[in-house]
Amino acid sequence: MNPALRKEYLRALGITPWVLRAGKTSETAAAALPRVEESQARAVGASVVPSAPPRAPQAPPLEENLSWEQLRSRVAACTRCALSKTRTQTVFGVGDPNADWLVVGEAPGAEEDRRGEPFVGRAGQLLDSMLRAIGLARGQVYIANVLKCRPPGNRDPAPAECTECLPYLERQIALLKPKIMLAVGRIAAQNLLKTDSPLSKLRQQEYRFGAARVPLVVTYHPAYLLRTPTDKRKAWEDLKFAREVCARVDR
Ligand code: SF4
Repeated sequence: MNPALRKEYLRALGITPWVLRAGKTSETAAAALPRVEESQARAVGASVVPSAPPRAPQAPPLEENLSWEQLRSRVAACTRCALSKTRTQTVFGVGDPNADWLVVGEAPGAEEDRRGEPFVGRAGQLLDSMLRAIGLARGQVYIANVLKCRPPGNRDPAPAECTECLPYLERQIALLKPKIMLAVGRIAAQNLLKTDSPLSKLRQQEYRFGAARVPLVVTYHPAYLLRTPTDKRKAWEDLKFAREVCARVDR
C-alpha cells in the first residue's frame, strides 16, 4: 500500500504512524511482533483452548448444501431462539462472497437491526478504517455476526442463543471458504473459541476454526476502541498479525 495512504488511514485510526529507528528495516520491525508458530496454533471447533469450560451443546446442524440464497431465506425466517420475537429484521451479513477475509462480530446493535447490515454507524466506520489500514476495502471482505438478531437493550448474547445461531455462521464459512477469520470483540472470540478467557489473553495467537481449520485471529471490537482509544495500537498490532497469518495461507 502507498505509504502516504497508510499514514492517512492510521491517523483515521488515531494511531501515530511508527517511525523506524536508524538501521531498522520494516522487516525487522515486523519481526518484533509476537508470533505464533504453526505448531503452536490451537485447534478449535469441537474442542478448543485447553482451559475452556464446557459450553452448551451444539445445535442441530442445518441441512447440507444450502446455497447463499437458501441460507439467507432460512435466516430471515428463523425462529430458533426468542430473539426472533424482538428483532426488527435479521442481519445476515454483507460483503464479497469470494472474500479471503471473514470478519465476525458479536450481534447486531440498534442501528444494524434497523438497517439490516452489520457494522454500520461509528463502529462500522472505525472497522472500515481498520480494514483500510491493512489495505482492504469493506467490499473486499465478508462481514457477519455470531448472532443474526439483535439482543434487546444491547445485552450480551446468551450462550443458548449463540448455540442456536452458530450453524448459520458455520454454513456461511463453508460457502465462503475464507483464508482467515478475524473475530472482533470478546463475545465473538469467546463464542467461536468456546472459551471464557479474556480477550487480552486470546489476541496475538493463531487459532483454527471448525472442520476446515480456518485460521482465526482475535482483536478488539471497534465499539470498544471508540470507548478506549488507547487500545487502538494493540488493534493495529492484531491486524498486522492477522495479515501475516493470511499471507501464509495457501488456499
Ligand atoms: S438469533 Fe439466530 S437462532 Fe436466534 S432467531 Fe435470530 S437467526 Fe434464529
